[in-house]
Amino acid sequence: MHGLLLHVCCGPCATVAVPAWRDRGVEPVAWFHNPNIQPAAELERRVESTRRYSRAAGLELLVAERRPEAAVWREWVAALAAATPDQRCAVCLGLRLRAAAAAAARLGVPRFSTTLSVSPYQRHDLIVAAGEAAAAEHGVHFVYLDLRATFRESYAESRRLDLYRQAYCGCAASKWEAWHERTQRKRAG
Ligand code: SF4
Repeated sequence: MHGLLLHVCCGPCATVAVPAWRDRGVEPVAWFHNPNIQPAAELERRVESTRRYSRAAGLELLVAERRPEAAVWREWVAALAAATPDQRCAVCLGLRLRAAAAAAARLGVPRFSTTLSVSPYQRHDLIVAAGEAAAAEHGVHFVYLDLRATFRESYAESRRLDLYRQAYCGCAASKWEAWHERTQRKRAG
């Protein structure tokens, strides 16, 4: 039996998160569920990069439904429309980690974690809060591993394995924000 269900946000982050767990003697089962990613073609690119990495790493990968249940989807769409970026991200992390906790409980895996903790751009306090709330709701344990120090290494691994690497976090708002930041940087010289 697997000792850990690892929610995977994308192939590049998995390239450093999976070895980090293996170094600790844990063989994770990877679980992809990121309905926040827009547009649909981008979601498919990230599913494909995760599949590609899984094949290269000999990792068991489960890809969940692209869409969550209707009530969760409505909560997410409302957060996109009305919330501040932090509130939006809290809902986004919550919906993914609740689903991961539910999947771990269903599969009989006692612990879960997430590759989201690779990114220095994520709010790690929100990841921990969402993970612990989801764990309490589903009777499993959330394990937070701070992997920000490996973020740069994930670039090199992605290049080595020829993985698609995204230019924004996931939702349409983050795509616009990333484009805006790049434009500002170019203008600043
Ligand atoms: S910026 Fe990223 S974490 Fe925040 S809501 Fe968008 S996709 Fe989710």
